[in-house]
Amino acid sequence: MTQTPDDDFKIDLRSDVTVELVKHSATDSDVLFAARVSTLGEQSLDELKKDAERSKGLINYLMRDRHGSPFEHNSMTFFVSAPIFVFREFMRHRVGWSYNEESGRYRELQPVFYVPDASRKLVQQGRPGKYEFVEGTPEQHQLVGEAMEESYRQAYRTYREMLAAGVAREVARSVLPVGLYSSMYATCNARSLMHFLGLRTQHELAKVPSFPQREIEMVGEKMEAEWARLMPLTYAAFNANGRVAP
Ligand SMILES: Cc1cc2nc3c(=O)[nH]c(=O)nc-3n(C[C@H](O)[C@H](O)[C@H](O)COP(=O)(O)OP(=O)(O)OC[C@H]3O[C@@H](n4cnc5c(N)ncnc54)[C@H](O)[C@@H]3O)c2cc1C
Repeated sequence: MTQTPDDDFKIDLRSDVTVELVKHSATDSDVLFAARVSTLGEQSLDELKKDAERSKGLINYLMRDRHGSPFEHNSMTFFVSAPIFVFREFMRHRVGWSYNEESGRYRELQPVFYVPDASRKLVQQGRPGKYEFVEGTPEQHQLVGEAMEESYRQAYRTYREMLAAGVAREVARSVLPVGLYSSMYATCNARSLMHFLGLRTQHELAKVPSFPQREIEMVGEKMEAEWARLMPLTYAAFNANGRVAP
């Protein structure tokens, strides 16, 4: 955190994102349970655990043949804290996702801003659709860090001035940049998460490569780690079938 003498606020600069799995009802059995109603009708979840190899085979078959709806009978709710530019990309995912985001109308926004760390590749080369990112020089990293901090401080100072003068939060927030952190709950199921991961992560097993912005990929990687723990058979089948959502 940094502060200049004339500011009565401290700026918090972050380079990471937060993803917490706050609520879930998601297991491989949920997939099998839903799929087997096709052939067996109603049955108990316990029966599904009896033949592990068959269960694995069925999940793999569903994934391979893109029989997708059995992967929808589960739920994961994540708390996410990330810069607004990540949320802007995130909320383009309309299907199988529910969102609730903190309000800039009902509460004063806190001065938490994004600055890329030394591992973030800074320089873009190539043409649209075929970009590659390469390391920035130490001078570029220094410039980015200093310029962003200065700009964030100026923007937040102006925001506070307007609030102090009695201007409504919903009006004053116009001056805040997309590097400001926001927070949300995002709820999805395994199918919608797979579609998201297929587009927003890069992976050597992906049959269809994607080129996401690194910061949304950081969110995706953390979600993926949580989901892999909850639904290991489904996760393995997703990877084995080229990370294409069924
Ligand atoms: C690398 C990358 C770069 C991008 N660049 C840009 C950009 O420059 N500008 C930009 O505006 N967006 C951009 N996007 C966003 C992109 O166009 C999608 O809006 C976003 O990835 C969400 O994907 P989706 O629509 O498949 O997901 P969802 O909205 O979750 O939809 C899931 C699936 O449901 C079906 N579906 C949903 N809605 C409809 C509909 N109305 N009609 C028919 N089928 C539907 C489709 O099969 C879709 O794949 C980019 C995305 C990526 C991954």
